[in-house]
Amino acid sequence: MSTKKTALITGSTSGIGLGIAKNFAAKGMNIVLNGFGDTTAIEEIRSNMSKEFGVEVRYSGADMSKVEEIENMIKTAESEFGAIDVLVNNAGIQHVSPVEDFPVDKWNAIIAINLSASFHTIRMALPKMKEKGWGRIINIASAHALVASPYKSAYVAAKHGIAGLTKTVALETATFGITMNAICPGYVWTPLVEKQVPDTAKARGITEEEVINNVMLHSQPTKKFVTIDQVAALASYLASDDAASITGSMVSIDGGWSAQ
Ligand code: NAD
Repeated sequence: MSTKKTALITGSTSGIGLGIAKNFAAKGMNIVLNGFGDTTAIEEIRSNMSKEFGVEVRYSGADMSKVEEIENMIKTAESEFGAIDVLVNNAGIQHVSPVEDFPVDKWNAIIAINLSASFHTIRMALPKMKEKGWGRIINIASAHALVASPYKSAYVAAKHGIAGLTKTVALETATFGITMNAICPGYVWTPLVEKQVPDTAKARGITEEEVINNVMLHSQPTKKFVTIDQVAALASYLASDDAASITGSMVSIDGGWSAQ
């Protein structure tokens, strides 16, 4: 069995998750990718990452809204690699709508994928981390784990839930060499953000350009999107031994948004 550390990153076929997977592979970790997308494109990502960085890269197509698929993903990763050393709960979806029109199926899917999936991966991965006496759990939360915005009731509720889960499990694992933190990014230009521009324009009755400049970048005093590489570098630090004393923290990377 490999002596390298193993990182499992949910939702790593795109955006922030893919950025974190590449950063961790470049640091010599074996990787378990997860997420949806075109099968051929995902296989290309997997094999290129493995060749470029000389690490093992596996892929699980588990749906983070399905408990049994999550359980199978963790069991398979542990039987292939021994343990998951670094767990990154990143898979997430968004839906923008006034609360009285919020589709019930969208509410249920956002709570399942953005919140409950993390409970399931954590409860499944912790026993092996405890056995090893070392582990890192990083939840990709959001500035919306700390503050709210209108028309995002399910997303904000799920991300505030992640904040509570992060703090609670950090206390339960503090003496086991395991840390658990949440990264709270502001707006990062990824497919998730791009897709919400038209719906936000509709909900607020403004143009798409106004959504970008007057809603998204208005929130961030730097007037810049956070980059995927910046979030990945922060995740890499939290996964390192240097970050052993950081646990139960909500770490903001939001261009000053939550300072306002
Ligand atoms: P993205 O749309 O680029 O990536 C989302 C990933 O999740 C994809 O790989 C997708 O296939 C996967 N996914 C979606 N539903 C899934 C499911 N049911 N099962 C398994 N995988 C699934 O989005 P992103 O912007 O990179 O977002 C990643 C995380 O970062 C999310 O949790 C999001 O809430 C959070 N976040 C994003 C921003 C931002 O501005 N982009 C800001 C704060 C927090």
